[in-house]
Amino acid sequence: MNIDLAIKNGSDILKNKLIPNPQLDSEILMATTINSDRKYALLNSNNLLEKKDLNKFFNLVKQRSLGEPIAYLTNKKYFWNSEFYITNDTLIPRPDTELVVENILNLTKQKNKINILDIGIGSGCILVSILKERENFFGTGIDISKKCLKISKINADNLGVGTRLKLYKSDIDKFNLGKYDLIVSNPPYIKKLKLKYLEKDVVEFEPKLALNGGLDGLSVIRKVIKKSSQLIKKNGKFILEIGFDQKNKVINLLKKEGFYINSAQLDLAKNDRCIVSTKI
Ligand code: GLN
Repeated sequence: MNIDLAIKNGSDILKNKLIPNPQLDSEILMATTINSDRKYALLNSNNLLEKKDLNKFFNLVKQRSLGEPIAYLTNKKYFWNSEFYITNDTLIPRPDTELVVENILNLTKQKNKINILDIGIGSGCILVSILKERENFFGTGIDISKKCLKISKINADNLGVGTRLKLYKSDIDKFNLGKYDLIVSNPPYIKKLKLKYLEKDVVEFEPKLALNGGLDGLSVIRKVIKKSSQLIKKNGKFILEIGFDQKNKVINLLKKEGFYINSAQLDLAKNDRCIVSTKI
């Protein structure tokens, strides 16, 4: 079977399973199968596939037809201005989280050699993107998942910032190392009982550890705010990603811990998503 026919068959299978972009997904999975990109697959569509590649391709199509996200099947996701290595141990970087990166870059235009802490670094998409943009900044990332730390290390090295990033496996409660000019976190903030109502590809495939914010959705955010107020320098900036219905509660928590609220911002879907504050 040639590449063209395999892509068509793959697309039909995905279409029958009501997967939203069957043709595109089939092309991407073919590119992954032959370790190449879509352009190569489409320009060489008459090439015959070996049996092992056909098997690999239709296995990927099968997984996709069961709802597994493309990012986990290709182990790639584009975020800010880099491609990140992703596995199902990390959340898939969201376009909404680019708002967090944008804020940090705006806040640090005039800064030199600052130390940034990322609490729950996951794939590293936030901190690695910042370090890539700001060549004299230093990063520290913590996570309770050892696998996430490995992935963020891979991303930091691949994107050339590995020597400026320190990683620690730690719960935020137990982390007491250093004082930071800027702290960022995208903690798990979904209410435990609401997890099952998230989109199927999220709830069935993404790590609960990165999503579950306990009964009220704020149990991790609370810890992160409390600890950040000790780890941050005076006048340091704190940038937090939050759930769409958490703005007022989070602002109160921040104020209680001595933060001044600079702004609360909306994501692409016009939901409250990011709070910028300053330690006073
Ligand atoms: N924004 C993610 C979602 O809606 C949740 C991320 C998080 O809990 N930090 O699936």
